[in-house]
Amino acid sequence: MNSVIPIRSALTVGCADAPVLKERGQREVFCGLTGIIWLHRKIQDAFFLVVGSRTCAHLIQSAAGVMIFAEPRFATAIIDERDLAGLADANTELDKVVTRLLERRPEIKLLFLVGSCPSEVIKLDLSRAASRLSATFSPKVRVLNYSGSGIETTFTQGEDACLASLVPVLPSAMTEAPANLLVVGTLADVVEDQFARLFEQMGMNNVRFFPPRQANELPAIGPNTRFLLAQPFLADTAKALEARGAQRIAAPFPLGVEGTSQWLWAAAAIFSVAKNHFDAVTEPARQRASAAVARQRTQLAGKRIFFFPDSQLEIPLARFLARELGMELVEVGTPYLHRQHLAEELALLPEGTFLSEGQHVENQLDRCRAAQPDIVVCGLGLANPLESEGLTTKWAIELVFTPIQGYDQAADLAELFSRPLVRRLKLAA
Ligand code: SF4
Repeated sequence: MNSVIPIRSALTVGCADAPVLKERGQREVFCGLTGIIWLHRKIQDAFFLVVGSRTCAHLIQSAAGVMIFAEPRFATAIIDERDLAGLADANTELDKVVTRLLERRPEIKLLFLVGSCPSEVIKLDLSRAASRLSATFSPKVRVLNYSGSGIETTFTQGEDACLASLVPVLPSAMTEAPANLLVVGTLADVVEDQFARLFEQMGMNNVRFFPPRQANELPAIGPNTRFLLAQPFLADTAKALEARGAQRIAAPFPLGVEGTSQWLWAAAAIFSVAKNHFDAVTEPARQRASAAVARQRTQLAGKRIFFFPDSQLEIPLARFLARELGMELVEVGTPYLHRQHLAEELALLPEGTFLSEGQHVENQLDRCRAAQPDIVVCGLGLANPLESEGLTTKWAIELVFTPIQGYDQAADLAELFSRPLVRRLKLAA
């Protein structure tokens, strides 16, 4: 077996220029508040205060309901219906809530005021509230704000908005500082540690991850910073980093053996790591992962999969499932297609893949029912009705909560798709 993965350079094949069906209409997605669930696990001394309605409080509590913490690191300040005259009171109340919170929880170093979509919240100027509160509580606590509003967003955009709000407060790297690599996007700690080890073994010692685990470990950035996106939904964060002089390294995303190899190599090549050294460092993990993925292939090869637009992970997932597991892509829907950030992914997709962007849920349900795929990736709201119609589903949100990036997680990622298929087969037997 040839264990050396060829690294592609030209983007002239696959679906690089494929037409995309653009749809607008009713949508079935979670809002950006959902990102708090994985962000609060990552930045361990941050607190997320949602400024919202009872609906927001309910969403965040039910989404996070699986986790029990003695001291949770998110909460909702409920802003009830009020007229413009009541806004001054709302600001005073918000200040009181924050003061009480920070007095009671001295371990909080970074506080995010997270905006939401109820009209009474939209009227509040949260960026002004954040600067006012930052002035009061700095240097002990930094207060920032972003919006997790559900209007015209996808649930992963909450992370993008959160990270983009952090970029302006990242320290500046000196212009003469040596080049450094910034890996951007929330990764489970176990995955981050694996990548950090691989980079270190390649001789790359100046590697930082963003967001960091602690608020006081914000990485410095500047014109010598090269950044590698670990998640495909970080358009605003990337733009903000570029505005600070950092340069994006074009790469596919680290899903599956192939994606992980190309992602790592894209950075290694920029930092002048020799290809044979790269191959030697990555070979053991690559071999292990290829063998584990091959075992999953027996369950998944030839199975037909349909993606509803939800997490923005759809295209990298489809590429992995088609190329490494032999699955057939019926339709790959994505809420938003960032052609530049996904150029390497699109080039790897099988030619002729049906791509759709945006959502008209009724039209898409019609196409899905007509195609009768073996498995459907969709949001929670669609999963139950589709299951009751006899279709097998996979919740898109689970793919964001689970560590799926990197070599050691490649087979686990495949298993997330084979498990529901096996379960249905067992039920049918
Ligand atoms: S932000 Fe908007 S969409 Fe999200 S829970 Fe609150 S009201 Fe609902």
